[in-house]
Amino acid sequence: MPYTGRFAPSPTGALHAGSLVAALASWLDARAHHGRWLVRIEDVDTPRCVPGAARTILQQLTDCGLVPDEAPVYQSQRGALYQQALDQLIARGLAYPCACTRLDIARALAASGHPHQRHGELVYPGTCRHGLNGRAARAWRFLTAEYESNRPLAQADSTQSAIESIANLNPAADTEVIWYDRLLGPQMQNVSRDVGDFVLKRADGFWAYQLAVVADDAAQGVTDIVRGQDLADNTARQILLQRALGLPLPRYLHTPLVLGANGEKLSKQNGAQPLDTRDPLAVLRQAGLALGLADRISASTSADWLQQAVGLWAGRHLEPAH
Ligand code: GLU
Repeated sequence: MPYTGRFAPSPTGALHAGSLVAALASWLDARAHHGRWLVRIEDVDTPRCVPGAARTILQQLTDCGLVPDEAPVYQSQRGALYQQALDQLIARGLAYPCACTRLDIARALAASGHPHQRHGELVYPGTCRHGLNGRAARAWRFLTAEYESNRPLAQADSTQSAIESIANLNPAADTEVIWYDRLLGPQMQNVSRDVGDFVLKRADGFWAYQLAVVADDAAQGVTDIVRGQDLADNTARQILLQRALGLPLPRYLHTPLVLGANGEKLSKQNGAQPLDTRDPLAVLRQAGLALGLADRISASTSADWLQQAVGLWAGRHLEPAH
């Protein structure tokens, strides 16, 4: 497969210094591999989108010389593709409707004596795996692994036998996902235990990021995903979906995050300023700092800076180990 990379911003505001690092890294990686570079506007979470933000983002990228090889696609126009993916999962017995509200989930977890939380999110206890019991379906969830919900993994005879019994029941949804990041090295996550059956289509009718991103990356022939480290934690879920849908697995590289003055990740949520791209060379130099490129480039124009950066990136041998 010829190299295809992408930058997939959510138009919840203009690009800030942190999001430009991910954009630049994915562009550099594509250029260093003589590949295609695409931009996908992830406006699937419509309530969080800000009118005009997509146009601003595309303009900021253009100002910095990061121009996609094809017209950008918009997730809000690709619902049919996501429905097709969900239908396939349903047909394979790997997606099920869920009637639970957040309160239902909190109650079920409290009653089970296993109040399972991760990053402040409740780990779904699998209540609706066995049917809706007359309640109305609200969302669709992915079946991460088939196991008896009243017999938590930790209490199984041994971890190995628990893993084997799950694998036997549902080989399409192997529970331990091991994957390789070109920068971070080998990674592992037990999705069933640590995340639970995650949402594919939300109760408010919008498509979930996990399903949309997997369907789009496959439909666009994306071979290499280069994005910020804050998204690394989603990768195992996305790999489970790729396996369940019989899709090719892309390679992954998660770039270092840019921290704000308060030591927290720079994000729109904690007040990161929109990037002023009137001086693109200064903006690129700043993004290059996070990628360890800045002090090795001496350029007087942004085009020159980018050209030298591609050369440095190509010489780094961030090559996949498989
Ligand atoms: N749309 C996601 C975001 O802006 C990124 C998706 C991805 O790169 O996989 O956070």
